[in-house]
Amino acid sequence: MNDKKIVIVGAGPGGLTAGMILAHRGANVEIFEKERHPGGRNRAIRLGDFRFDTGPTFLMMKYLLEEMFEETGRKASDYIEIVKLDPYYRLQFPDKKFFPTGEKQKMKEQIRVAFPGNENGFEKFMRKEGKRFRRLIPCLQKDYSSLRAFFDPVFLKAAPHLSLGKTLYNNLGRYYDAEQLKLAFTFQSKYLGMSPWECPALFTMLAYMEYEYGVYHVTGGLNKISQAMARVLEEEGGAIHYETLVREVIAEGRDVKGVRLENGKEIYADEVIINADFGYAATNLMPPGSLKKWSPEKLKKKSFSCGTFMLYLGLDKKYDTLQHHNIIFADDYRQNVETMFGNHQMTDDFSFYIQNASVTDPTLAPPGKSTLYVLVPVPNNRSGIDWEAEKEPFREKVIEKITAKTEMSDLREHIEVKKVITPREWENDYNVYIAAEFNLAHNASQMLYFRPHNRFEELNNLYLTGGGTHPGSGLPTIYESGRISANLISKKHGLPYIKPSFDAEKILPDG
Ligand SMILES: Cc1cc2nc3c(=O)[nH]c(=O)nc-3n(C[C@H](O)[C@H](O)[C@H](O)COP(=O)(O)OP(=O)(O)OC[C@H]3O[C@@H](n4cnc5c(N)ncnc54)[C@H](O)[C@@H]3O)c2cc1C
Repeated sequence: MNDKKIVIVGAGPGGLTAGMILAHRGANVEIFEKERHPGGRNRAIRLGDFRFDTGPTFLMMKYLLEEMFEETGRKASDYIEIVKLDPYYRLQFPDKKFFPTGEKQKMKEQIRVAFPGNENGFEKFMRKEGKRFRRLIPCLQKDYSSLRAFFDPVFLKAAPHLSLGKTLYNNLGRYYDAEQLKLAFTFQSKYLGMSPWECPALFTMLAYMEYEYGVYHVTGGLNKISQAMARVLEEEGGAIHYETLVREVIAEGRDVKGVRLENGKEIYADEVIINADFGYAATNLMPPGSLKKWSPEKLKKKSFSCGTFMLYLGLDKKYDTLQHHNIIFADDYRQNVETMFGNHQMTDDFSFYIQNASVTDPTLAPPGKSTLYVLVPVPNNRSGIDWEAEKEPFREKVIEKITAKTEMSDLREHIEVKKVITPREWENDYNVYIAAEFNLAHNASQMLYFRPHNRFEELNNLYLTGGGTHPGSGLPTIYESGRISANLISKKHGLPYIKPSFDAEKILPDG
Protein backbone atom coordinates (compact mmCIF):
# COMPACT_ATOMS: atom_id res chain seq x y z
CA MET A 1 0.00 0.00 0.00
CA ASN A 2 1.12 3.53 -0.87
CA ASP A 3 1.43 5.85 2.12
CA LYS A 4 -1.03 8.39 0.71
CA LYS A 5 -4.05 8.67 2.94
CA ILE A 6 -7.35 9.59 1.31
CA VAL A 7 -10.42 10.37 3.41
CA ILE A 8 -13.82 10.30 1.72
CA VAL A 9 -16.95 11.82 3.25
CA GLY A 10 -19.88 9.62 2.25
CA ALA A 11 -20.27 6.13 0.76
CA GLY A 12 -22.66 7.10 -2.03
CA PRO A 13 -22.03 5.99 -5.64
CA GLY A 14 -19.50 8.81 -6.20
CA GLY A 15 -17.49 8.18 -3.03
CA LEU A 16 -17.47 4.43 -3.55
CA THR A 17 -16.27 4.76 -7.16
CA ALA A 18 -13.41 7.09 -6.25
CA GLY A 19 -12.60 4.99 -3.18
CA MET A 20 -12.41 1.60 -4.87
CA ILE A 21 -10.32 2.96 -7.76
CA LEU A 22 -7.84 4.73 -5.47
CA ALA A 23 -7.60 1.73 -3.13
CA HIS A 24 -6.80 -0.48 -6.12
CA ARG A 25 -4.05 1.95 -7.12
CA GLY A 26 -2.49 1.56 -3.70
CA ALA A 27 -3.80 4.54 -1.72
CA ASN A 28 -4.86 4.13 1.89
CA VAL A 29 -8.59 4.91 1.62
CA GLU A 30 -10.99 5.49 4.50
CA ILE A 31 -14.61 6.40 3.96
CA PHE A 32 -16.71 7.95 6.73
CA GLU A 33 -20.42 7.33 6.23
CA LYS A 34 -23.15 8.54 8.55
CA GLU A 35 -25.50 5.63 7.80
CA ARG A 36 -25.26 1.90 8.63
CA HIS A 37 -25.11 0.84 4.98
CA PRO A 38 -23.43 2.06 1.78
CA GLY A 39 -25.17 3.70 -1.18
CA GLY A 40 -26.62 7.05 -0.01
CA ARG A 41 -29.57 7.82 -2.27
CA ASN A 42 -28.72 4.47 -3.91
CA ARG A 43 -29.24 2.54 -0.64
CA ALA A 44 -31.69 -0.30 -0.12
CA ILE A 45 -34.89 0.17 1.87
CA ARG A 46 -36.15 -2.92 3.70
CA LEU A 47 -39.77 -3.11 4.87
CA GLY A 48 -40.49 -6.55 6.36
CA ASP A 49 -39.96 -9.08 3.57
CA PHE A 50 -39.94 -6.39 0.86
CA ARG A 51 -36.85 -4.68 -0.60
CA PHE A 52 -36.75 -1.42 -2.55
CA ASP A 53 -34.25 0.92 -4.09
CA THR A 54 -34.37 4.29 -2.33
CA GLY A 55 -33.55 6.36 -5.44
CA PRO A 56 -32.04 5.25 -8.77
CA THR A 57 -33.98 2.54 -10.61
CA PHE A 58 -32.84 3.16 -14.22
CA LEU A 59 -29.34 1.96 -15.08
CA MET A 60 -28.09 3.46 -18.32
CA MET A 61 -24.70 3.33 -20.04
CA LYS A 62 -24.00 -0.05 -18.47
CA TYR A 63 -20.62 -0.05 -20.20
CA LEU A 64 -19.51 2.85 -18.02
CA LEU A 65 -20.28 1.00 -14.80
CA GLU A 66 -18.37 -1.97 -16.20
CA GLU A 67 -15.41 0.30 -16.90
CA MET A 68 -15.33 1.35 -13.22
CA PHE A 69 -15.00 -2.28 -12.15
CA GLU A 70 -12.35 -2.82 -14.86
CA GLU A 71 -10.40 0.09 -13.31
CA THR A 72 -9.95 -2.24 -10.32
CA GLY A 73 -9.06 -5.28 -12.44
CA ARG A 74 -12.50 -6.83 -11.94
CA LYS A 75 -15.62 -7.71 -13.88
CA ALA A 76 -18.91 -6.18 -12.75
CA SER A 77 -20.66 -9.43 -13.70
CA ASP A 78 -18.72 -11.26 -10.95
CA TYR A 79 -20.50 -9.06 -8.41
CA ILE A 80 -23.93 -8.16 -9.81
CA GLU A 81 -26.44 -9.46 -12.33
CA ILE A 82 -27.40 -6.77 -14.85
CA VAL A 83 -30.63 -7.43 -16.75
CA LYS A 84 -31.72 -5.64 -19.91
CA LEU A 85 -35.34 -4.46 -19.96
CA ASP A 86 -37.47 -4.61 -23.07
CA PRO A 87 -39.71 -2.75 -23.57
CA TYR A 88 -37.95 -0.06 -21.60
CA TYR A 89 -41.07 1.41 -20.06
CA ARG A 90 -44.72 2.18 -20.46
CA LEU A 91 -45.42 5.82 -21.28
CA GLN A 92 -49.04 6.55 -20.51
CA PHE A 93 -50.66 9.63 -22.01
CA PRO A 94 -54.30 10.54 -21.35
CA ASP A 95 -55.39 8.86 -24.61
CA LYS A 96 -52.72 6.26 -25.36
CA LYS A 97 -49.99 4.00 -24.06
CA PHE A 98 -46.63 3.73 -25.76
CA PHE A 99 -43.89 1.12 -25.11
CA PRO A 100 -40.43 2.31 -26.26
CA THR A 101 -38.06 -0.50 -27.11
CA GLY A 102 -34.39 -0.91 -27.98
CA GLU A 103 -35.30 -2.92 -31.08
CA LYS A 104 -35.02 -0.16 -33.62
CA GLN A 105 -37.28 -1.60 -36.33
CA LYS A 106 -39.95 -2.39 -33.76
CA MET A 107 -39.65 1.13 -32.38
CA LYS A 108 -40.01 2.69 -35.81
CA GLU A 109 -43.10 0.58 -36.48
CA GLN A 110 -44.62 1.54 -33.13
CA ILE A 111 -44.08 5.22 -33.95
CA ARG A 112 -45.69 4.69 -37.37
CA VAL A 113 -48.80 3.17 -35.77
CA ALA A 114 -49.15 5.60 -32.85
CA PHE A 115 -47.87 8.79 -34.51
CA PRO A 116 -48.24 8.29 -38.29
CA GLY A 117 -45.84 10.33 -40.42
CA ASN A 118 -43.22 10.62 -37.64
CA GLU A 119 -41.50 7.25 -38.13
CA ASN A 120 -38.63 8.53 -40.28
CA GLY A 121 -37.79 11.03 -37.57
CA PHE A 122 -36.52 8.14 -35.42
CA GLU A 123 -33.73 7.22 -37.86
CA LYS A 124 -32.76 10.86 -38.20
CA PHE A 125 -32.79 11.17 -34.38
CA MET A 126 -30.46 8.18 -33.96
CA ARG A 127 -28.09 9.40 -36.68
CA LYS A 128 -27.80 13.04 -35.64
CA GLU A 129 -27.91 12.52 -31.88
CA GLY A 130 -25.41 9.65 -32.21
CA LYS A 131 -22.97 12.07 -33.81
CA ARG A 132 -23.54 14.58 -31.02
CA PHE A 133 -23.15 11.87 -28.35
CA ARG A 134 -19.82 10.66 -29.75
CA ARG A 135 -18.47 14.22 -29.65
CA LEU A 136 -19.84 15.08 -26.20
CA ILE A 137 -18.98 11.99 -24.19
CA PRO A 138 -15.19 12.51 -24.28
CA CYS A 139 -15.89 16.05 -23.05
CA LEU A 140 -17.72 14.76 -20.02
CA GLN A 141 -14.79 12.51 -19.09
CA LYS A 142 -12.46 15.47 -18.65
CA ASP A 143 -11.76 17.63 -15.68
CA TYR A 144 -12.77 21.33 -15.94
CA SER A 145 -10.63 22.71 -13.12
CA SER A 146 -9.18 25.29 -15.47
CA LEU A 147 -10.53 27.48 -18.26
CA ARG A 148 -7.82 25.91 -20.42
CA ALA A 149 -10.13 22.89 -20.73
CA PHE A 150 -12.20 24.97 -23.18
CA PHE A 151 -9.22 25.11 -25.57
CA ASP A 152 -8.60 21.39 -25.52
CA PRO A 153 -9.18 19.88 -29.00
CA VAL A 154 -11.71 17.44 -27.48
CA PHE A 155 -13.82 20.36 -26.29
CA LEU A 156 -13.35 22.42 -29.44
CA LYS A 157 -14.61 19.50 -31.56
CA ALA A 158 -17.64 19.12 -29.30
CA ALA A 159 -18.46 22.83 -28.97
CA PRO A 160 -20.67 23.09 -32.08
CA HIS A 161 -22.72 20.17 -30.73
CA LEU A 162 -23.53 21.88 -27.43
CA SER A 163 -26.43 23.79 -29.07
CA LEU A 164 -26.19 26.42 -26.35
CA GLY A 165 -29.35 28.47 -26.00
CA LYS A 166 -31.54 25.72 -27.45
CA THR A 167 -33.82 23.65 -25.20
CA LEU A 168 -34.38 19.93 -25.21
CA TYR A 169 -38.00 20.33 -26.25
CA ASN A 170 -37.14 22.64 -29.16
CA ASN A 171 -34.47 20.24 -30.34
CA LEU A 172 -37.01 17.42 -30.63
CA GLY A 173 -38.92 19.57 -33.11
CA ARG A 174 -36.16 18.65 -35.61
CA TYR A 175 -37.36 15.06 -35.57
CA TYR A 176 -41.05 14.90 -34.70
CA ASP A 177 -44.16 17.03 -34.94
CA ALA A 178 -46.38 14.90 -32.66
CA GLU A 179 -46.49 16.52 -29.23
CA GLN A 180 -46.62 13.27 -27.26
CA LEU A 181 -43.74 11.80 -29.21
CA LYS A 182 -41.64 14.84 -28.36
CA LEU A 183 -42.49 14.18 -24.71
CA ALA A 184 -41.48 10.53 -25.10
CA PHE A 185 -37.99 11.72 -26.05
CA THR A 186 -37.72 14.62 -23.59
CA PHE A 187 -39.29 13.42 -20.33
CA GLN A 188 -35.78 12.03 -19.56
CA SER A 189 -34.86 15.56 -18.39
CA LYS A 190 -36.68 14.43 -15.23
CA TYR A 191 -33.61 12.28 -14.56
CA LEU A 192 -31.88 15.62 -13.95
CA GLY A 193 -34.88 17.06 -12.14
CA MET A 194 -35.35 19.61 -14.95
CA SER A 195 -38.11 20.72 -17.29
CA PRO A 196 -37.80 19.78 -21.01
CA TRP A 197 -38.70 23.39 -21.78
CA GLU A 198 -35.62 24.61 -19.86
CA CYS A 199 -33.17 21.72 -20.04
CA PRO A 200 -30.34 22.35 -22.58
CA ALA A 201 -30.67 20.57 -25.94
CA LEU A 202 -27.43 18.65 -25.44
CA PHE A 203 -29.32 16.43 -22.97
CA THR A 204 -31.17 14.91 -25.92
CA MET A 205 -28.34 12.44 -25.44
CA LEU A 206 -30.23 10.97 -22.46
CA ALA A 207 -32.90 9.54 -24.78
CA TYR A 208 -30.27 8.63 -27.37
CA MET A 209 -28.32 6.67 -24.75
CA GLU A 210 -31.41 4.64 -23.91
CA TYR A 211 -32.06 3.64 -27.52
CA GLU A 212 -28.42 2.97 -28.35
CA TYR A 213 -27.18 1.36 -25.14
CA GLY A 214 -30.31 0.07 -23.41
CA VAL A 215 -32.08 0.47 -20.08
CA TYR A 216 -31.05 -2.00 -17.37
CA HIS A 217 -32.08 -3.32 -13.98
CA VAL A 218 -29.85 -5.05 -11.44
CA THR A 219 -31.25 -8.16 -9.78
CA GLY A 220 -32.04 -7.27 -6.19
CA GLY A 221 -32.16 -3.58 -7.09
CA LEU A 222 -29.62 -0.97 -8.19
CA ASN A 223 -28.54 -0.69 -4.54
CA LYS A 224 -26.59 -3.92 -5.21
CA ILE A 225 -24.15 -1.82 -7.26
CA SER A 226 -23.18 0.27 -4.24
CA GLN A 227 -22.96 -2.85 -2.08
CA ALA A 228 -20.65 -4.44 -4.67
CA MET A 229 -18.46 -1.34 -4.83
CA ALA A 230 -18.18 -1.32 -1.03
CA ARG A 231 -17.05 -4.96 -1.21
CA VAL A 232 -14.42 -4.15 -3.83
CA LEU A 233 -13.13 -1.25 -1.73
CA GLU A 234 -12.74 -3.54 1.27
CA GLU A 235 -11.12 -6.30 -0.83
CA GLU A 236 -8.57 -3.67 -1.88
CA GLY A 237 -7.73 -2.88 1.75
CA GLY A 238 -9.88 0.26 2.08
CA ALA A 239 -12.17 0.81 5.07
CA ILE A 240 -15.69 2.18 5.47
CA HIS A 241 -16.57 3.53 8.91
CA TYR A 242 -20.35 3.33 9.11
CA GLU A 243 -22.56 5.36 11.44
CA THR A 244 -19.79 7.95 11.57
CA LEU A 245 -20.87 11.47 10.77
CA VAL A 246 -18.29 13.97 9.62
CA ARG A 247 -18.87 17.27 11.40
CA GLU A 248 -16.45 19.47 9.43
CA VAL A 249 -13.47 19.75 7.16
CA ILE A 250 -10.26 20.77 8.95
CA ALA A 251 -8.20 23.40 7.13
CA GLU A 252 -5.21 25.60 7.85
CA GLY A 253 -5.75 28.66 5.70
CA ARG A 254 -6.73 27.26 2.33
CA ASP A 255 -5.04 23.90 2.92
CA VAL A 256 -7.34 21.08 3.91
CA LYS A 257 -5.74 18.73 6.44
CA GLY A 258 -8.51 16.24 7.19
CA VAL A 259 -11.92 15.99 8.81
CA ARG A 260 -13.37 16.26 12.29
CA LEU A 261 -15.94 13.61 13.21
CA GLU A 262 -19.06 14.17 15.26
CA ASN A 263 -17.36 12.56 18.28
CA GLY A 264 -14.61 15.19 18.01
CA LYS A 265 -11.94 12.83 16.66
CA GLU A 266 -9.70 14.39 14.03
CA ILE A 267 -8.65 12.31 11.01
CA TYR A 268 -5.73 13.69 9.02
CA ALA A 269 -5.24 12.91 5.35
CA ASP A 270 -3.23 13.88 2.28
CA GLU A 271 -6.44 14.46 0.34
CA VAL A 272 -10.11 14.72 1.26
CA ILE A 273 -12.92 13.84 -1.15
CA ILE A 274 -16.44 15.04 -0.42
CA ASN A 275 -19.24 12.82 -1.69
CA ALA A 276 -21.90 14.24 0.63
CA ASP A 277 -24.39 16.41 -1.27
CA PHE A 278 -22.53 19.51 -2.49
CA GLY A 279 -25.06 22.12 -1.29
CA TYR A 280 -25.20 20.46 2.13
CA ALA A 281 -21.39 20.25 2.34
CA ALA A 282 -20.90 23.86 1.26
CA THR A 283 -23.30 25.09 3.94
CA ASN A 284 -22.42 22.64 6.74
CA LEU A 285 -18.99 21.04 6.38
CA MET A 286 -16.65 23.69 5.00
CA PRO A 287 -14.70 25.87 7.43
CA PRO A 288 -16.87 28.93 8.18
CA GLY A 289 -16.11 31.84 5.86
CA SER A 290 -13.84 29.75 3.60
CA LEU A 291 -16.08 29.86 0.53
CA LYS A 292 -16.62 32.83 -1.76
CA LYS A 293 -17.79 31.51 -5.15
CA TRP A 294 -19.92 28.77 -3.51
CA SER A 295 -20.71 30.50 -0.22
CA PRO A 296 -24.07 29.73 1.44
CA GLU A 297 -25.31 33.19 0.34
CA LYS A 298 -24.34 32.58 -3.31
CA LEU A 299 -25.93 29.12 -3.28
CA LYS A 300 -29.25 30.74 -2.43
CA LYS A 301 -29.16 32.42 -5.84
CA LYS A 302 -28.31 29.27 -7.81
CA SER A 303 -30.78 27.20 -9.68
CA PHE A 304 -31.48 23.72 -8.26
CA SER A 305 -33.41 20.66 -9.41
CA CYS A 306 -36.91 19.73 -8.31
CA GLY A 307 -37.55 17.41 -5.38
CA THR A 308 -39.46 14.13 -5.18
CA PHE A 309 -42.25 12.65 -3.09
CA MET A 310 -41.62 8.91 -2.66
CA LEU A 311 -44.02 6.13 -1.78
CA TYR A 312 -42.80 2.54 -1.26
CA LEU A 313 -45.53 -0.11 -1.05
CA GLY A 314 -45.21 -3.81 -0.26
CA LEU A 315 -48.26 -5.58 -1.77
CA ASP A 316 -49.81 -8.99 -1.14
CA LYS A 317 -50.40 -9.35 -4.88
CA LYS A 318 -48.58 -8.85 -8.18
CA TYR A 319 -49.85 -6.67 -11.04
CA ASP A 320 -48.48 -8.52 -14.05
CA THR A 321 -49.93 -6.23 -16.74
CA LEU A 322 -47.96 -3.23 -15.56
CA GLN A 323 -44.40 -2.85 -16.90
CA HIS A 324 -41.24 -2.74 -14.79
CA HIS A 325 -41.07 1.07 -15.39
CA ASN A 326 -44.25 3.12 -15.96
CA ILE A 327 -44.47 6.85 -16.49
CA ILE A 328 -47.95 8.32 -16.21
CA PHE A 329 -48.12 11.83 -17.68
CA ALA A 330 -50.34 14.53 -16.22
CA ASP A 331 -53.30 15.43 -18.42
CA ASP A 332 -51.59 18.77 -19.04
CA TYR A 333 -47.92 17.84 -18.68
CA ARG A 334 -46.56 21.23 -19.63
CA GLN A 335 -48.68 23.04 -17.09
CA ASN A 336 -47.69 20.52 -14.40
CA VAL A 337 -43.99 21.01 -15.14
CA GLU A 338 -44.15 24.79 -15.44
CA THR A 339 -46.11 25.22 -12.22
CA MET A 340 -43.58 23.08 -10.39
CA PHE A 341 -40.45 24.73 -11.78
CA GLY A 342 -41.75 28.24 -12.37
CA ASN A 343 -43.96 28.83 -9.33
CA HIS A 344 -42.60 26.13 -6.97
CA GLN A 345 -46.16 24.91 -6.56
CA MET A 346 -47.97 21.62 -6.87
CA THR A 347 -50.93 20.91 -9.08
CA ASP A 348 -53.61 18.26 -8.60
CA ASP A 349 -52.92 17.14 -12.16
CA PHE A 350 -49.43 15.69 -11.60
CA SER A 351 -47.26 13.16 -13.43
CA PHE A 352 -45.80 10.17 -11.62
CA TYR A 353 -43.53 7.20 -12.11
CA ILE A 354 -44.21 3.67 -10.87
CA GLN A 355 -41.60 0.96 -10.67
CA ASN A 356 -43.23 -2.47 -10.58
CA ALA A 357 -39.92 -4.34 -10.49
CA SER A 358 -41.37 -7.63 -9.26
CA VAL A 359 -42.51 -8.38 -12.83
CA THR A 360 -38.87 -8.95 -13.75
CA ASP A 361 -37.17 -9.49 -10.40
CA PRO A 362 -38.55 -12.19 -8.06
CA THR A 363 -36.00 -11.42 -5.32
CA LEU A 364 -37.69 -8.24 -4.07
CA ALA A 365 -40.82 -9.70 -2.48
CA PRO A 366 -42.08 -13.11 -1.27
CA PRO A 367 -43.77 -15.34 -3.92
CA GLY A 368 -47.10 -13.94 -5.14
CA LYS A 369 -46.32 -10.54 -3.62
CA SER A 370 -44.68 -7.45 -5.08
CA THR A 371 -43.09 -4.08 -4.45
CA LEU A 372 -44.27 -0.75 -5.88
CA TYR A 373 -41.99 2.28 -5.91
CA VAL A 374 -43.78 5.52 -6.73
CA LEU A 375 -41.98 8.79 -7.46
CA VAL A 376 -43.81 12.09 -7.88
CA PRO A 377 -41.69 15.08 -8.95
CA VAL A 378 -42.54 17.97 -6.63
CA PRO A 379 -40.98 21.40 -5.97
CA ASN A 380 -37.80 21.45 -3.89
CA ASN A 381 -37.93 23.04 -0.42
CA ARG A 382 -37.71 26.57 -1.76
CA SER A 383 -41.48 26.08 -2.12
CA GLY A 384 -42.04 26.47 1.61
CA ILE A 385 -44.53 23.57 1.50
CA ASP A 386 -45.12 22.16 5.00
CA TRP A 387 -44.45 18.49 4.26
CA GLU A 388 -45.16 17.39 7.80
CA ALA A 389 -48.74 18.55 7.30
CA GLU A 390 -48.95 17.51 3.65
CA LYS A 391 -47.37 14.05 3.95
CA GLU A 392 -50.51 12.00 4.59
CA PRO A 393 -53.02 13.97 2.48
CA PHE A 394 -50.60 13.89 -0.45
CA ARG A 395 -49.93 10.16 0.01
CA GLU A 396 -53.70 9.57 -0.22
CA LYS A 397 -53.88 11.76 -3.34
CA VAL A 398 -51.12 9.72 -4.95
CA ILE A 399 -52.83 6.41 -4.16
CA GLU A 400 -56.10 7.88 -5.47
CA LYS A 401 -54.39 8.89 -8.70
CA ILE A 402 -52.83 5.42 -9.16
CA THR A 403 -56.17 3.67 -8.67
CA ALA A 404 -57.88 6.07 -11.09
CA LYS A 405 -55.25 6.03 -13.84
CA THR A 406 -53.92 2.47 -13.84
CA GLU A 407 -55.25 -1.09 -13.71
CA MET A 408 -54.51 -1.13 -9.95
CA SER A 409 -58.02 -0.01 -8.98
CA ASP A 410 -58.00 -2.37 -5.95
CA LEU A 411 -54.56 -1.22 -4.76
CA ARG A 412 -55.68 -0.04 -1.31
CA GLU A 413 -56.88 -3.55 -0.37
CA HIS A 414 -53.47 -5.06 -1.09
CA ILE A 415 -51.04 -2.80 0.78
CA GLU A 416 -49.13 -4.75 3.46
CA VAL A 417 -46.44 -2.20 4.27
CA LYS A 418 -45.72 1.38 3.25
CA LYS A 419 -43.12 4.09 3.65
CA VAL A 420 -43.07 7.71 2.50
CA ILE A 421 -40.12 10.04 1.94
CA THR A 422 -41.01 13.70 1.40
CA PRO A 423 -38.67 16.60 0.63
CA ARG A 424 -38.58 17.21 4.37
CA GLU A 425 -36.86 13.83 4.97
CA TRP A 426 -34.59 14.27 1.94
CA GLU A 427 -33.26 17.46 3.49
CA ASN A 428 -33.18 16.45 7.17
CA ASP A 429 -32.29 12.74 7.06
CA TYR A 430 -30.48 12.37 3.74
CA ASN A 431 -28.60 15.69 4.00
CA VAL A 432 -29.80 16.89 0.61
CA TYR A 433 -29.64 20.69 0.26
CA ILE A 434 -33.20 22.11 -0.07
CA ALA A 435 -34.24 18.55 -1.10
CA ALA A 436 -33.02 19.18 -4.64
CA GLU A 437 -32.18 15.52 -5.09
CA PHE A 438 -30.72 15.96 -8.54
CA ASN A 439 -28.45 18.74 -7.27
CA LEU A 440 -27.57 22.04 -8.93
CA ALA A 441 -29.61 22.41 -12.12
CA HIS A 442 -27.79 21.42 -15.28
CA ASN A 443 -28.10 24.70 -17.17
CA ALA A 444 -25.25 26.14 -19.22
CA SER A 445 -24.17 28.49 -16.41
CA GLN A 446 -23.81 25.58 -13.96
CA MET A 447 -22.06 22.98 -16.10
CA LEU A 448 -18.49 22.03 -17.04
CA TYR A 449 -16.13 24.76 -15.73
CA PHE A 450 -19.14 26.53 -14.16
CA ARG A 451 -20.11 23.58 -11.92
CA PRO A 452 -18.16 23.05 -8.65
CA HIS A 453 -14.87 21.55 -9.83
CA ASN A 454 -13.75 17.99 -9.16
CA ARG A 455 -10.57 19.52 -7.74
CA PHE A 456 -12.46 21.98 -5.59
CA GLU A 457 -11.46 25.49 -6.57
CA GLU A 458 -11.86 27.15 -3.18
CA LEU A 459 -9.66 24.94 -0.97
CA ASN A 460 -6.49 22.93 -1.57
CA ASN A 461 -6.33 19.13 -1.20
CA LEU A 462 -10.11 18.92 -1.48
CA TYR A 463 -11.95 17.05 -4.23
CA LEU A 464 -15.61 16.50 -5.02
CA THR A 465 -17.47 13.50 -6.38
CA GLY A 466 -21.20 12.91 -6.85
CA GLY A 467 -24.07 14.62 -8.58
CA GLY A 468 -23.11 18.13 -7.44
CA THR A 469 -19.83 18.29 -9.34
CA HIS A 470 -18.85 17.72 -12.99
CA PRO A 471 -20.17 15.93 -15.09
CA GLY A 472 -23.47 15.94 -13.14
CA SER A 473 -26.31 14.01 -11.58
CA GLY A 474 -27.27 10.48 -12.72
CA LEU A 475 -25.37 7.28 -11.99
CA PRO A 476 -23.15 7.13 -15.12
CA THR A 477 -21.97 10.72 -14.70
CA ILE A 478 -21.53 10.23 -10.96
CA TYR A 479 -19.31 7.19 -11.60
CA GLU A 480 -17.36 9.34 -14.05
CA SER A 481 -16.98 12.08 -11.41
CA GLY A 482 -15.49 9.47 -9.07
CA ARG A 483 -13.00 8.41 -11.71
CA ILE A 484 -12.08 12.03 -12.62
CA SER A 485 -11.33 12.87 -8.97
CA ALA A 486 -9.44 9.59 -8.49
CA ASN A 487 -7.35 10.39 -11.58
CA LEU A 488 -6.59 13.93 -10.42
CA ILE A 489 -5.35 12.56 -7.08
CA SER A 490 -3.45 9.75 -8.82
CA LYS A 491 -1.69 12.24 -11.07
CA LYS A 492 -0.73 14.42 -8.11
CA HIS A 493 0.72 11.52 -6.11
CA GLY A 494 2.21 9.43 -8.90
CA LEU A 495 -0.29 6.58 -8.59
CA PRO A 496 -0.67 4.52 -11.79
CA TYR A 497 -3.65 5.45 -13.97
CA ILE A 498 -4.75 5.43 -17.57
CA LYS A 499 -6.69 8.37 -19.00
CA PRO A 500 -10.15 7.14 -20.01
CA SER A 501 -10.80 7.24 -23.72
CA PHE A 502 -14.18 6.83 -25.30
CA ASP A 503 -14.16 4.53 -28.30
CA ALA A 504 -17.64 4.18 -29.76
CA GLU A 505 -16.43 1.31 -31.95
CA LYS A 506 -15.46 -0.76 -28.93
CA ILE A 507 -18.80 -0.41 -27.19
CA LEU A 508 -21.37 -2.68 -28.68
CA PRO A 509 -24.61 -0.83 -29.31
CA ASP A 510 -27.15 -2.13 -26.83
CA GLY A 511 -24.40 -4.00 -25.03
C1 LIG B 1 -35.52 9.50 -6.05
C2 LIG B 1 -34.30 9.46 -6.93
C3 LIG B 1 -34.33 8.75 -8.11
C4 LIG B 1 -33.20 8.69 -8.92
N1 LIG B 1 -33.24 7.94 -10.05
C5 LIG B 1 -32.13 7.78 -10.79
C6 LIG B 1 -32.12 6.83 -11.85
O1 LIG B 1 -33.11 6.13 -12.09
N2 LIG B 1 -30.97 6.69 -12.57
C7 LIG B 1 -29.85 7.43 -12.29
O2 LIG B 1 -28.84 7.25 -12.97
N3 LIG B 1 -29.84 8.34 -11.27
C8 LIG B 1 -30.93 8.52 -10.51
N4 LIG B 1 -30.91 9.37 -9.42
C9 LIG B 1 -29.77 10.32 -9.23
C10 LIG B 1 -28.48 9.77 -8.60
O3 LIG B 1 -28.01 8.68 -9.32
C11 LIG B 1 -28.56 9.36 -7.14
O4 LIG B 1 -29.10 10.37 -6.37
C12 LIG B 1 -27.19 8.98 -6.54
O5 LIG B 1 -27.35 8.11 -5.46
C13 LIG B 1 -26.41 10.18 -6.05
O6 LIG B 1 -25.12 9.75 -5.70
P1 LIG B 1 -24.05 10.68 -5.00
O7 LIG B 1 -22.77 9.92 -5.02
O8 LIG B 1 -24.06 12.03 -5.61
O9 LIG B 1 -24.56 10.95 -3.50
P2 LIG B 1 -25.43 10.21 -2.39
O10 LIG B 1 -26.08 8.98 -2.93
O11 LIG B 1 -26.32 11.21 -1.79
O12 LIG B 1 -24.33 9.81 -1.32
C14 LIG B 1 -23.81 10.71 -0.37
C15 LIG B 1 -23.43 9.96 0.90
O13 LIG B 1 -22.88 10.87 1.84
C16 LIG B 1 -23.37 10.52 3.14
N5 LIG B 1 -23.24 11.69 4.01
C17 LIG B 1 -23.91 12.88 3.91
N6 LIG B 1 -23.49 13.72 4.85
C18 LIG B 1 -22.53 13.08 5.57
C19 LIG B 1 -21.71 13.44 6.68
N7 LIG B 1 -21.76 14.66 7.23
N8 LIG B 1 -20.85 12.52 7.18
C20 LIG B 1 -20.76 11.28 6.61
N9 LIG B 1 -21.51 10.89 5.58
C21 LIG B 1 -22.37 11.78 5.05
C22 LIG B 1 -24.80 10.11 2.87
O14 LIG B 1 -25.34 9.33 3.94
C23 LIG B 1 -24.63 9.32 1.58
O15 LIG B 1 -24.36 7.95 1.83
C24 LIG B 1 -32.02 9.42 -8.57
C25 LIG B 1 -32.00 10.14 -7.39
C26 LIG B 1 -33.12 10.16 -6.56
C27 LIG B 1 -33.05 10.91 -5.27
